[in-house]
Amino acid sequence: MTGPEALYQELIFQHYRNSRHRGELEAADVEVTTHNPVCGDKITLRLRVRDGVVEAARFSGQGCAISQASASMMAQRLEGKNFEQIHILSRHFTGLLHGDPEAATNPALGDLRALSGVAKLPARVRCALLAWDALTEAETTLRNRDQHP
Ligand code: ZN
Repeated sequence: MTGPEALYQELIFQHYRNSRHRGELEAADVEVTTHNPVCGDKITLRLRVRDGVVEAARFSGQGCAISQASASMMAQRLEGKNFEQIHILSRHFTGLLHGDPEAATNPALGDLRALSGVAKLPARVRCALLAWDALTEAETTLRNRDQHP
């Protein structure tokens, strides 16, 4: 393997082994766990949110490199963003997993671009989306709580 594919592989394993966003989060506002029974992946996402902006994001879990690296790369992109900005990011990422060539070069995705190869591995798309499912559920939980204090 040469070129960007080798670099991307290396980046995925870096996030898998040494994520800076892995761990507990003090005073988290929401905590959501998602599972992918097909692969045995598990992600717990914790967010601290102030005035609609993600102040801190941490995850824990276990599973394949793609599931854990996607969580790490996602957590890295969340801090400082509001949910509107996060929706745009999520749309770009979904496009990436469906082989959209524009998404594959979109700088907004940062390290997440390393997961572009997953578009060729349909069975692993679920792994890559597991952390994002947790994110969607976290947002729903926060919204419901705001409506029913
Ligand atoms: Zn997996």
